[in-house]
Amino acid sequence: MSNAKILPILINHNPILRKKSTQIRRDEIKTKEFQRLCSDMAKTMEEKDGAGLAAPQIGKNIRLVVVRTENSAVCMINPKIIKKSWAKECGEEGCLSVPDVFGKVKRHKKIICKYLDKKGKEIKIEAEGLMARVIQHEIDHLDGVLFIDKARDIKKLT
Ligand SMILES: [Zn+2]
Repeated sequence: MSNAKILPILINHNPILRKKSTQIRRDEIKTKEFQRLCSDMAKTMEEKDGAGLAAPQIGKNIRLVVVRTENSAVCMINPKIIKKSWAKECGEEGCLSVPDVFGKVKRHKKIICKYLDKKGKEIKIEAEGLMARVIQHEIDHLDGVLFIDKARDIKKLT
């Protein structure tokens, strides 16, 4: 993590943000390059003060996201929502790729998400509230969807 670097973030209207990202092969995970990418994305998210960051945002159409938990960054490889609550809730969102824009998005309140961690181990977590929202927002990025596609009451700071 010490020599991780900050990656440039792609901004809205870049076509990479609109492509569907591909699954990551298990044997790719242990490579030095991939491990470095995870560290660089975590560092970039922290430095830019984001709640999460998806690989397309740094120019790679692969199914990798990092999300911020209390004190660390969690890498989620091939994340997939396998269960979601019927109940939804509306909350304000922004995105590092859509600077200075905020809007309200309806998301599932609770989700169960399956992913591989940095060691290739399969993890299943239950998330609710803000964490559930961040995971849904980041997985949308992997499918070429931006929050502004779903948001209402969109505000632009000037
Ligand atoms: Zn975003």
